[in-house]
Amino acid sequence: MKVDFFKHNLGDEEINEAVKSLRSLFLTTGKYVDDFEKALASYLDTKYAVAVTSCTAALHLALLAAGIGPGDEVITTPMSFVATANSIVMTGAKPIFVDVEKDTGNINTDLIKKAITHKTKAILPVHLYGQMVNMRKILSIAKKYSLLVIEDSAHALEAKRDGIKPGQISFGSCFSFYATKSITSAEGGAFTTNDEETARLIKKLRSHGITSELAQRERTGLKTYDVDVLGWKYNMDNVQAAILINQVKKIEKQWKRREEIAQKYRKAFAKIGLEMPREYKNSKHGRHIFPIWVDSKKRDQILEYINNNGVGAVINYPSIHLFTYYRNKFGFKKGMYPNCEEISKREITIPLYSKLTNNEVNYVIKIVGEAISA
Ligand SMILES: *Cc1c(COP(=O)(O)O)cnc(C)c1O
Repeated sequence: MKVDFFKHNLGDEEINEAVKSLRSLFLTTGKYVDDFEKALASYLDTKYAVAVTSCTAALHLALLAAGIGPGDEVITTPMSFVATANSIVMTGAKPIFVDVEKDTGNINTDLIKKAITHKTKAILPVHLYGQMVNMRKILSIAKKYSLLVIEDSAHALEAKRDGIKPGQISFGSCFSFYATKSITSAEGGAFTTNDEETARLIKKLRSHGITSELAQRERTGLKTYDVDVLGWKYNMDNVQAAILINQVKKIEKQWKRREEIAQKYRKAFAKIGLEMPREYKNSKHGRHIFPIWVDSKKRDQILEYINNNGVGAVINYPSIHLFTYYRNKFGFKKGMYPNCEEISKREITIPLYSKLTNNEVNYVIKIVGEAISA
């Protein structure tokens, strides 16, 4: 049996809509993008969504919109995909890492205050694996020290904690529609916020700082435009938005299937004493990926056994601070963030997606069980 690490769930509805957009006059940012933004904002219960080409782009623009640049510091986690920290470096600011909770992998909010200096401008938490950090607590720290909070919600489209969804109480939240995320256009991203002025600024920054996009000029009959701020080229196009638009109404249904699979995994693995992240109370887990934590000395051997038996599995994530670029540029060293380093040595991500069949789920459970007892 072979169980792929990930299979997307694009069907006829998505493909037909994409074809329709390709047969239409207007290929780049236009009505499809507007409609997708409205649908996404509505799903997330935020006032505004701005669609861009990736979550990395959304993070970069969010930091720029927050006024962050050279000489500034941004507090974040070393346990994430490298995009999180890279987006900070792209602005010229310095990423300041804070170690993670040993039993969840999320940034340890108790350690944030100690990392704040007079250069700190923002906190960039990641809702790791789909579990939201304690946003109320982070917001209260941010308020006290006049910092902005930008969320990396690439794992947390469906998540909720203490009644709060990503993007509702922060400066804004960044999402990914990369190929393995829960909704996808192969590549894509979005920024959401409740603040109108921020949404407008991000919209301008995604298209070179141009004061009106082409579709808007067509609509209003404007013949020219101004550039009053330096922007980037991060606008989502209509084809991407056409692929995404019909996925929004399926988010909950597909999440439910992943939740069901995750519960099955948790029950089976608890029985054989396998360690997994602790799950918060009053929290809806986004179920982006399913991590297991094994003995670090045996991890590579276990991963190999799983892969050799036809099950796709990967490591999420290597510690960001130990990447060569980060060591060389900022002087980070082994031992600086021990909980993060420990998780990066113990973690294995196994398949979790709505297309998995019960047979496949049972096979994954069987192979993981064999791998850890081998
Ligand atoms: C996928 C991911 C990103 C980057 O998303 P892109 O859309 O590929 O730029 C950022 N942060 C986290 C935590 C991710 O998992």
